[in-house]
Amino acid sequence: MMPTSANVDPYSPEVGYFECLECSRRTTSDNRLTTCTDCGGQLRNIAVPRE
Ligand SMILES: [Zn+2]
Repeated sequence: MMPTSANVDPYSPEVGYFECLECSRRTTSDNRLTTCTDCGGQLRNIAVPRE
């Protein structure tokens, strides 16, 4: 079964969850973020599944 194309962003397939390296604040966004909206620190993408 194919997923609906509306759920797939071809320009940013892995975005979604980010964690700030400075304050550990976690942010969810549909956009690719690089800086924390709270403290301006660097964000890293934590969208990689962990099991
Ligand atoms: Zn921060």
